[in-house]
Amino acid sequence: MSTAYFNGKFLPKEEVKISPDDRGFLFADGIYEVVRWYEGFFYDMPGHIARLKRSLNEIRLSWPESESFPAVAFELITRNNLQNIPSLVYLQVTRGAAKRSHAFPGPDVLPTVYAFARGFHPEKEAIAAGINVIIRKEIRWSRCDIKSVSLLPNILSFQEARDLDCYECIFVRDGMITECAHSNVFFVINGVLYTHPESENILSGITRKNIIRIARETGIRVIETPVAENKLNEISEAFITNTSFEIAPVISINKITTGDGHPGPLTRAIRDRFDEEIRSMGG
Ligand code: PLP
Repeated sequence: MSTAYFNGKFLPKEEVKISPDDRGFLFADGIYEVVRWYEGFFYDMPGHIARLKRSLNEIRLSWPESESFPAVAFELITRNNLQNIPSLVYLQVTRGAAKRSHAFPGPDVLPTVYAFARGFHPEKEAIAAGINVIIRKEIRWSRCDIKSVSLLPNILSFQEARDLDCYECIFVRDGMITECAHSNVFFVINGVLYTHPESENILSGITRKNIIRIARETGIRVIETPVAENKLNEISEAFITNTSFEIAPVISINKITTGDGHPGPLTRAIRDRFDEEIRSMGG
Protein backbone atom coordinates (compact mmCIF):
# COMPACT_ATOMS: atom_id res chain seq x y z
CA MET A 1 0.00 0.00 0.00
CA SER A 2 1.53 3.36 -0.93
CA THR A 3 1.94 6.19 1.53
CA ALA A 4 0.85 9.69 0.54
CA TYR A 5 1.19 13.09 2.18
CA PHE A 6 -2.06 14.92 2.87
CA ASN A 7 -2.45 18.18 4.79
CA GLY A 8 0.52 17.70 7.09
CA LYS A 9 0.22 13.92 7.60
CA PHE A 10 1.61 10.78 6.01
CA LEU A 11 -1.10 8.17 5.52
CA PRO A 12 -2.08 5.27 3.25
CA LYS A 13 -3.10 6.73 -0.12
CA GLU A 14 -6.51 5.02 0.13
CA GLU A 15 -7.27 7.03 3.27
CA VAL A 16 -6.82 10.42 1.60
CA LYS A 17 -10.22 12.12 1.47
CA ILE A 18 -10.63 15.28 -0.59
CA SER A 19 -13.84 17.27 -0.32
CA PRO A 20 -16.07 17.58 -3.42
CA ASP A 21 -16.04 21.31 -2.59
CA ASP A 22 -12.29 21.47 -3.04
CA ARG A 23 -11.43 24.31 -5.39
CA GLY A 24 -8.90 22.09 -7.12
CA PHE A 25 -11.77 19.80 -8.11
CA LEU A 26 -14.32 22.53 -8.89
CA PHE A 27 -12.10 25.15 -10.58
CA ALA A 28 -8.63 23.61 -11.10
CA ASP A 29 -7.70 26.38 -8.64
CA GLY A 30 -4.27 25.09 -7.71
CA ILE A 31 -0.71 24.48 -8.73
CA TYR A 32 1.66 21.53 -8.73
CA GLU A 33 5.31 20.58 -8.88
CA VAL A 34 7.18 17.43 -9.95
CA VAL A 35 10.71 16.56 -8.92
CA ARG A 36 12.85 13.59 -9.92
CA TRP A 37 14.61 11.27 -7.48
CA TYR A 38 17.84 9.79 -8.85
CA GLU A 39 18.36 6.90 -6.43
CA GLY A 40 20.06 9.06 -3.83
CA PHE A 41 19.24 12.70 -4.57
CA PHE A 42 16.62 15.03 -6.04
CA TYR A 43 17.81 16.83 -9.17
CA ASP A 44 17.87 20.62 -8.65
CA MET A 45 15.49 20.68 -5.66
CA PRO A 46 16.27 24.42 -5.11
CA GLY A 47 15.01 25.12 -8.65
CA HIS A 48 11.79 23.20 -7.94
CA ILE A 49 11.19 25.01 -4.63
CA ALA A 50 11.76 28.39 -6.30
CA ARG A 51 9.24 27.52 -9.04
CA LEU A 52 6.75 26.17 -6.47
CA LYS A 53 6.91 29.45 -4.52
CA ARG A 54 6.60 31.46 -7.71
CA SER A 55 3.49 29.50 -8.83
CA LEU A 56 1.90 29.99 -5.38
CA ASN A 57 2.70 33.68 -5.48
CA GLU A 58 1.34 34.18 -9.00
CA ILE A 59 -2.04 32.66 -8.08
CA ARG A 60 -2.02 34.50 -4.69
CA LEU A 61 -2.19 31.26 -2.71
CA SER A 62 -0.49 31.14 0.65
CA TRP A 63 1.11 27.86 1.75
CA PRO A 64 3.55 28.88 4.48
CA GLU A 65 5.09 25.38 4.61
CA SER A 66 6.42 25.43 1.05
CA GLU A 67 9.97 25.10 2.42
CA SER A 68 8.97 21.68 3.77
CA PHE A 69 8.76 20.26 0.23
CA PRO A 70 12.24 18.61 0.24
CA ALA A 71 11.58 16.95 3.62
CA VAL A 72 8.11 15.78 2.55
CA ALA A 73 9.49 14.48 -0.76
CA PHE A 74 12.32 12.60 0.97
CA GLU A 75 9.94 11.10 3.52
CA LEU A 76 7.69 9.86 0.71
CA ILE A 77 10.68 8.22 -1.01
CA THR A 78 11.70 6.52 2.23
CA ARG A 79 8.24 5.44 3.36
CA ASN A 80 7.53 3.93 -0.07
CA ASN A 81 10.90 2.11 -0.27
CA LEU A 82 11.90 3.98 -3.39
CA GLN A 83 15.46 4.88 -2.31
CA ASN A 84 17.01 2.72 -5.06
CA ILE A 85 14.39 3.23 -7.76
CA PRO A 86 14.11 6.12 -10.27
CA SER A 87 11.08 8.00 -8.96
CA LEU A 88 9.00 11.13 -9.25
CA VAL A 89 7.46 13.10 -6.41
CA TYR A 90 4.29 15.01 -7.27
CA LEU A 91 2.99 17.81 -5.04
CA GLN A 92 -0.26 19.70 -5.51
CA VAL A 93 -1.57 22.68 -3.55
CA THR A 94 -5.12 23.97 -4.06
CA ARG A 95 -7.06 26.88 -2.57
CA GLY A 96 -8.91 24.49 -0.26
CA ALA A 97 -12.55 23.46 0.19
CA ALA A 98 -15.20 26.19 0.40
CA LYS A 99 -18.70 27.08 -0.80
CA ARG A 100 -18.48 27.34 -4.59
CA SER A 101 -17.85 30.92 -5.59
CA HIS A 102 -15.39 32.47 -8.03
CA ALA A 103 -14.13 34.80 -5.31
CA PHE A 104 -11.30 33.53 -3.10
CA PRO A 105 -12.54 31.97 0.16
CA GLY A 106 -11.83 33.67 3.50
CA PRO A 107 -8.47 33.40 5.31
CA ASP A 108 -9.85 30.61 7.55
CA VAL A 109 -9.90 28.21 4.57
CA LEU A 110 -6.63 26.27 4.51
CA PRO A 111 -5.02 25.10 1.30
CA THR A 112 -5.29 21.42 0.42
CA VAL A 113 -1.85 19.87 0.08
CA TYR A 114 -1.38 16.44 -1.45
CA ALA A 115 1.81 14.67 -2.50
CA PHE A 116 2.80 11.19 -3.60
CA ALA A 117 5.90 9.40 -4.88
CA ARG A 118 6.05 6.70 -7.50
CA GLY A 119 8.82 4.70 -9.12
CA PHE A 120 9.05 4.57 -12.90
CA HIS A 121 11.13 2.97 -15.66
CA PRO A 122 12.95 5.68 -17.64
CA GLU A 123 12.71 4.56 -21.29
CA LYS A 124 16.25 5.79 -21.77
CA GLU A 125 17.23 3.57 -24.73
CA ALA A 126 13.98 4.03 -26.66
CA ILE A 127 14.12 7.79 -26.19
CA ALA A 128 17.81 8.00 -27.15
CA ALA A 129 16.89 6.68 -30.60
CA GLY A 130 14.64 9.69 -31.14
CA ILE A 131 10.94 10.49 -31.01
CA ASN A 132 8.25 11.65 -33.44
CA VAL A 133 6.18 14.69 -32.55
CA ILE A 134 3.28 16.67 -33.98
CA ILE A 135 2.95 20.44 -34.17
CA ARG A 136 -0.34 22.20 -33.52
CA LYS A 137 -1.87 25.60 -32.86
CA GLU A 138 -1.55 26.64 -29.20
CA ILE A 139 -4.89 26.23 -27.45
CA ARG A 140 -3.74 27.22 -23.93
CA TRP A 141 -4.28 30.42 -21.94
CA SER A 142 -1.92 33.38 -21.60
CA ARG A 143 -0.29 32.44 -18.24
CA CYS A 144 1.56 29.29 -19.24
CA ASP A 145 4.38 30.35 -16.87
CA ILE A 146 2.27 29.19 -13.90
CA LYS A 147 2.46 25.45 -13.17
CA SER A 148 -1.30 25.29 -12.88
CA VAL A 149 -3.24 22.02 -12.52
CA SER A 150 -5.58 23.33 -15.23
CA LEU A 151 -4.12 21.14 -17.97
CA LEU A 152 -7.05 20.35 -20.27
CA PRO A 153 -5.52 21.96 -23.40
CA ASN A 154 -2.23 20.14 -22.70
CA ILE A 155 -4.11 16.86 -22.28
CA LEU A 156 -6.13 17.27 -25.50
CA SER A 157 -3.00 18.15 -27.50
CA PHE A 158 -0.96 15.37 -25.91
CA GLN A 159 -3.66 12.78 -26.58
CA GLU A 160 -3.83 13.88 -30.22
CA ALA A 161 -0.08 13.20 -30.42
CA ARG A 162 -0.55 9.78 -28.81
CA ASP A 163 -3.45 8.92 -31.16
CA LEU A 164 -1.03 9.56 -34.04
CA ASP A 165 1.67 7.37 -32.43
CA CYS A 166 3.71 10.45 -31.56
CA TYR A 167 5.44 11.25 -28.30
CA GLU A 168 4.64 14.92 -27.84
CA CYS A 169 2.84 17.95 -29.32
CA ILE A 170 4.73 21.19 -30.08
CA PHE A 171 2.66 24.39 -29.76
CA VAL A 172 2.67 27.35 -32.17
CA ARG A 173 1.35 30.73 -31.01
CA ASP A 174 1.07 33.51 -33.61
CA GLY A 175 3.48 31.72 -35.92
CA MET A 176 6.13 31.22 -33.21
CA ILE A 177 7.02 27.93 -31.51
CA THR A 178 6.55 28.14 -27.74
CA GLU A 179 6.95 24.74 -26.02
CA CYS A 180 5.15 21.39 -25.83
CA ALA A 181 2.25 19.81 -23.91
CA HIS A 182 4.53 18.71 -21.05
CA SER A 183 8.04 19.72 -22.08
CA ASN A 184 10.19 22.53 -23.48
CA VAL A 185 11.63 22.41 -26.98
CA PHE A 186 15.05 23.32 -28.45
CA PHE A 187 16.20 23.63 -32.08
CA VAL A 188 19.62 23.73 -33.72
CA ILE A 189 20.03 26.10 -36.68
CA ASN A 190 23.52 26.64 -38.15
CA GLY A 191 25.16 25.17 -35.03
CA VAL A 192 23.32 27.52 -32.63
CA LEU A 193 20.83 26.23 -30.05
CA TYR A 194 17.52 28.11 -29.89
CA THR A 195 14.72 27.94 -27.34
CA HIS A 196 11.82 30.20 -26.40
CA PRO A 197 12.78 32.77 -23.72
CA GLU A 198 11.11 32.74 -20.31
CA SER A 199 7.78 34.53 -20.72
CA GLU A 200 4.09 34.08 -19.98
CA ASN A 201 3.92 31.79 -23.04
CA ILE A 202 6.01 28.94 -21.61
CA LEU A 203 6.54 27.09 -18.38
CA SER A 204 10.09 27.76 -17.25
CA GLY A 205 11.27 24.14 -17.15
CA ILE A 206 13.86 23.20 -14.55
CA THR A 207 15.39 20.85 -17.14
CA ARG A 208 15.32 23.69 -19.73
CA LYS A 209 17.32 25.97 -17.42
CA ASN A 210 19.90 23.28 -16.66
CA ILE A 211 20.21 22.29 -20.32
CA ILE A 212 20.89 25.92 -21.27
CA ARG A 213 23.62 26.02 -18.60
CA ILE A 214 25.09 22.66 -19.66
CA ALA A 215 25.04 23.61 -23.37
CA ARG A 216 26.88 26.86 -22.61
CA GLU A 217 29.42 25.00 -20.43
CA THR A 218 29.95 22.64 -23.39
CA GLY A 219 30.77 25.64 -25.60
CA ILE A 220 27.48 25.64 -27.52
CA ARG A 221 26.00 29.04 -28.33
CA VAL A 222 22.47 29.34 -26.96
CA ILE A 223 20.01 32.03 -28.03
CA GLU A 224 16.76 32.38 -26.09
CA THR A 225 14.44 33.62 -28.78
CA PRO A 226 11.33 32.08 -30.32
CA VAL A 227 11.76 30.09 -33.54
CA ALA A 228 9.15 30.78 -36.23
CA GLU A 229 7.19 27.78 -37.50
CA ASN A 230 8.19 28.73 -41.05
CA LYS A 231 11.90 28.33 -40.11
CA LEU A 232 11.47 24.63 -39.36
CA ASN A 233 12.93 23.75 -42.76
CA GLU A 234 16.23 25.29 -41.55
CA ILE A 235 16.66 23.17 -38.41
CA SER A 236 19.26 20.42 -38.30
CA GLU A 237 18.34 19.08 -34.82
CA ALA A 238 15.55 19.35 -32.27
CA PHE A 239 14.99 17.96 -28.80
CA ILE A 240 12.52 18.29 -25.96
CA THR A 241 13.19 18.35 -22.22
CA ASN A 242 11.39 17.60 -18.98
CA THR A 243 12.01 16.28 -15.49
CA SER A 244 11.03 12.66 -16.14
CA PHE A 245 12.53 11.87 -19.58
CA GLU A 246 15.32 14.52 -19.41
CA ILE A 247 16.29 15.07 -23.08
CA ALA A 248 14.44 13.42 -25.97
CA PRO A 249 15.85 13.91 -29.48
CA VAL A 250 13.14 14.72 -32.05
CA ILE A 251 13.53 12.88 -35.38
CA SER A 252 10.32 14.00 -37.10
CA ILE A 253 7.77 16.80 -36.80
CA ASN A 254 4.37 16.17 -38.43
CA LYS A 255 6.02 13.24 -40.26
CA ILE A 256 8.68 15.52 -41.78
CA THR A 257 12.15 14.20 -40.96
CA THR A 258 14.26 16.44 -38.71
CA GLY A 259 17.86 16.79 -39.98
CA ASP A 260 19.06 13.38 -41.16
CA GLY A 261 16.44 11.55 -39.09
CA HIS A 262 18.85 10.64 -36.27
CA PRO A 263 19.70 12.37 -32.99
CA GLY A 264 22.21 15.05 -33.97
CA PRO A 265 25.71 15.74 -32.58
CA LEU A 266 24.77 18.72 -30.38
CA THR A 267 21.82 16.83 -28.89
CA ARG A 268 24.05 13.85 -28.13
CA ALA A 269 26.79 16.05 -26.64
CA ILE A 270 24.28 17.74 -24.33
CA ARG A 271 22.73 14.41 -23.31
CA ASP A 272 26.18 12.97 -22.54
CA ARG A 273 27.05 16.02 -20.44
CA PHE A 274 23.74 15.79 -18.58
CA ASP A 275 24.32 12.05 -17.89
CA GLU A 276 27.85 12.87 -16.65
CA GLU A 277 26.43 15.48 -14.28
CA ILE A 278 23.93 12.96 -12.88
CA ARG A 279 26.69 10.38 -12.42
CA SER A 280 28.93 12.93 -10.68
CA MET A 281 26.06 13.65 -8.28
CA GLY A 282 25.88 9.94 -7.45
CA GLY A 283 22.98 8.83 -9.70
N1 PLP B 1 6.42 22.78 -20.16
C1 PLP B 1 5.29 22.23 -19.68
C2 PLP B 1 3.98 22.70 -20.21
C3 PLP B 1 5.35 21.21 -18.72
O1 PLP B 1 4.22 20.66 -18.23
C4 PLP B 1 6.62 20.77 -18.27
C5 PLP B 1 6.73 19.71 -17.25
O2 PLP B 1 5.81 19.08 -16.87
C6 PLP B 1 7.77 21.36 -18.81
C7 PLP B 1 7.63 22.38 -19.74
C8 PLP B 1 9.14 20.93 -18.37
O3 PLP B 1 9.40 21.35 -17.07
P1 PLP B 1 10.46 20.57 -16.15
O4 PLP B 1 11.72 20.51 -16.94
O5 PLP B 1 10.58 21.41 -14.95
O6 PLP B 1 9.89 19.22 -15.90
